[in-house]
Amino acid sequence: MRRPLVAGNWKMNKTVEQASLLMQEMLPGLKAVSGVERVVCPPFTSLPAFSLLLADSGVGLGAQNMHWEASGAFTGELAPQMVKEFCTYVIIGHSERRAYFAETDETVNKKVKAALALGLTPIVCVGETLGEYEAGQTSAVVNRQIGEGFKGIEAAVAPQIVVAYEPIWAIGTGKAATSDGANAVLRDTIRPAMSQLWGGAVAQAIRILYGGSVNAANASEYFHQSDIDGALVGGASLKAPDFTKIVESARP
Ligand code: PEP
Repeated sequence: MRRPLVAGNWKMNKTVEQASLLMQEMLPGLKAVSGVERVVCPPFTSLPAFSLLLADSGVGLGAQNMHWEASGAFTGELAPQMVKEFCTYVIIGHSERRAYFAETDETVNKKVKAALALGLTPIVCVGETLGEYEAGQTSAVVNRQIGEGFKGIEAAVAPQIVVAYEPIWAIGTGKAATSDGANAVLRDTIRPAMSQLWGGAVAQAIRILYGGSVNAANASEYFHQSDIDGALVGGASLKAPDFTKIVESARP
């Protein structure tokens, strides 16, 4: 049985003060939910405050990115160990990082390996553009992202990975994928691609989230699907009642 996981990606929103207020507002509701792993990923600047705020709360803390090298001349970057000081999760290869910051399957691969080496849980984003979707290339794109992004990772550590299928055309657009359509990609493309790498049992054990315009009204549709194990939520994770409701609806 895969444990449901809902993660909120706050992106580049909220100062430390604003973020702390929002976290305090949502914390009682999130704490009260059982049976769902729930995670918030605020901007880097809020991680120290949040690691204190969330201690012993049952709510996990994640970063939105990190570098793969342990240290060095990489101005503006954070090393895995720096993330690990505060977090247990890290989002890797979000489509915004791929589109605006030149992340590739190769850099995703290095980051996933670095996260796994430190015991961080990587939430690895894959998904096709609108053009690729319309051209019927979803399977080919996602297969490549999985094959290249997870190249050289041992089956023994693979179950620690979380995959987030986020069709780019559904992110922040209000045009969510249908729950059947998203589930079909997970069931027919992502799990088989992982099965090729690590075998069927490992592929069945890995959690796969859906992301893309998930909100309080549509979330439960996704969680009723066979292969969707939770959600990566952007916009709706910035509203306390909505995010709490999404987490609640992931309860098994
Ligand atoms: C995201 O950025 O990961 C995301 C899914 O955003 P939204 O929920 O706003 O579409």
